[in-house]
Order: sequence, then structure tokens, then C-alpha cells
Amino acid sequence: MSLLKVAVQKSGRLSEDSLKLFNECGIKFNNGAKKLKAQSHNFPIEFLFLRDDDIPGYVEDGIADIGIVGQNVHEEYGKDIEVVKYLGFSKCRLSLAIPREDSYTDVTYFEGKNLATSYPVILKKFLDEKGVKADVHEISGSVEIAPGIGLAEGICDIVSSGSTLLSNGLKEVETVMKSEAVMVASKSLSTDKKNILNQLIFRINAVLEGKNKKYVLLNAPNDSIDKIIDLLPGMRSPTVLPLAEKGWSSIHSVISEDDFWENIEKLREAGAEGVLVVPIEKMIK
Ligand code: ATP
Ligand code: ZN
Repeated sequence: MSLLKVAVQKSGRLSEDSLKLFNECGIKFNNGAKKLKAQSHNFPIEFLFLRDDDIPGYVEDGIADIGIVGQNVHEEYGKDIEVVKYLGFSKCRLSLAIPREDSYTDVTYFEGKNLATSYPVILKKFLDEKGVKADVHEISGSVEIAPGIGLAEGICDIVSSGSTLLSNGLKEVETVMKSEAVMVASKSLSTDKKNILNQLIFRINAVLEGKNKKYVLLNAPNDSIDKIIDLLPGMRSPTVLPLAEKGWSSIHSVISEDDFWENIEKLREAGAEGVLVVPIEKMIK
């Protein structure tokens, strides 16, 4: 029986959410001692804990079969591997930033400038597309201090809230790419391993599907059922059950959280009472 070898970040911004995802998929393993490897005892998977930068290369070489990395790392290393699933966590963007006091009009600002980044491939591609010629210098950490110490006039770095930029006297002026965590896979998996990967993706889909949906239960007088059903686009159609109290029913449906908030006032106007909103752990379409 094959084992699917899964590379996840050992410690960093992807680690916790990656392991949480496997947990939510019901895949149990013991990672007590922060080892290099761990094997699941209820799913044919073995985890390898690595630096995120090493993951694309290891997947290409077949040392790992699949891995979880940020799209930024996947693009930067440009390995011959496939993105098999967008995972929706570790969302961030790669942006260009300049000293706060400089005025900025458009991307031609960067013409002839020195730029520091840990993502030279992505940045050069972006500048090429815009027809801007700049000097790109690769530095591996603390990119945001480069302008302050005279190493560069601008930077391209990961931003999520922008507070790091602000505290280094910089402002964000262009988004170079948006990123989230992705599952990448080798292009030459055996049939056995492909089957395991498909089972895994089936579970991940069920988890992700459930995440942004809610199970809604409410009570309503029978003469408002039609109106309420129109406001509740369910998976197929809402469930309507009679209540012990005559003339009343309980209506159950699955809707997205956004739709719920958008429609709650209308539901109440239509006569809905005792509304319960319950999280969904897994959902299989
Ligand atoms: P390693 O030691 O494994 O090389 P690292 O320091 O390169 O780790 P992290 O800072 O842990 O990397 O970030 C890992 C990934 O998480 C990034 O490549 C990016 O996709 C995403 N990420 C980085 N910063 C943020 C952030 N502030 N918010 C959300 N996601 C982020
Ligand atoms: Zn890294």
C-alpha cells in the first residue's frame, strides 16, 4: 500500500493552518516532538516538515508527492509541478512600497530605481510586463529595512495589514501579486498515489465547502412559508417540518453566511422567528 508524502512548512505562517486542514479532514497523526516526519494512523499519508522554500523543489524531485506553499513561493521557484487546490488561507499580497514622503503617480516611478526583494523572479516579470527597467536586488530577509539603510529606493515584499511597512516609513503603491496557500503536486504520481490525492481533495472540498455555509433553522407561520423559501436558496430545497403548535412550521436550509446577513431582516419581516444559525463541519455536494 502506498503512502502519499506530504510536505508542509515546519514552522511559520503556513504551518498551523496546514495541519488544521488535515485535522478537519479527519486525518490523525502525532506530531508531538516536532519531528522531521510523521505518519497518519488513519489515512495513507506521511508528513515531511520542511522550510517552505524547499517544498516546490522537493515536490518536483519526487522527495515529496504533494506540498502546501504560498502561491508567491510556487511562482517564484517556477518548478514543474501542478497546483491541485487553492486552500483559501494565508492570504497576502506582494506589493511594491516606497518611502512615505515620496509622491507616486504610476509604475514609471520605478524606472532606473534600485529595488530590494526576496521575490526577484516575480518582480522582474511584473516590471517587464509594465515595460519598466529597474535594478532588482535579491535579499533574503528584512526587506523592509532596505530603503532606511540606503540599500534600495523601493521594495517588493509580502504585505497583509501594512503595519510593518508603516513602521518602516514606507507606503504601499502597487500590488504585484495576490497570494493564498495552495496544494501543489508532482506531475508524475503513481495511480495509487493519485487515488489517495483524490480522496484527500474530496475531503478538503467538503471542509472548504462547509466553511462558508451555515445551517439555518427557523420557525414560521404556515402562510409565510412560500415567502421565506424564496429568501432561502437551499442546497436543493429547504426542509419544512410541522411544529407541534398548529399552523406553524420549522424551516431548515443551508445558505452562505453572506446571504444570511443580507436576508435576515426580510426573513423576520416575512414572519420568521426563533432563527438558529449553526456552523457546518463538512459538506458534500
Ligand atoms: P521558512 O522558515 O519556512 O522559510 P518563511 O519565513 O519564508 O518561512 P513565513 O513568514 O512563515 O515564511 O510565510 C510563509 C508564507 O505565508 C509566505 O510565503 C506567504 O505565502 C504567507 N504569508 C507571509 N506573510 C503573511 C502574512 N502577513 N499574512 C498572511 N500570509 C502570509
Ligand atoms: Zn521561506
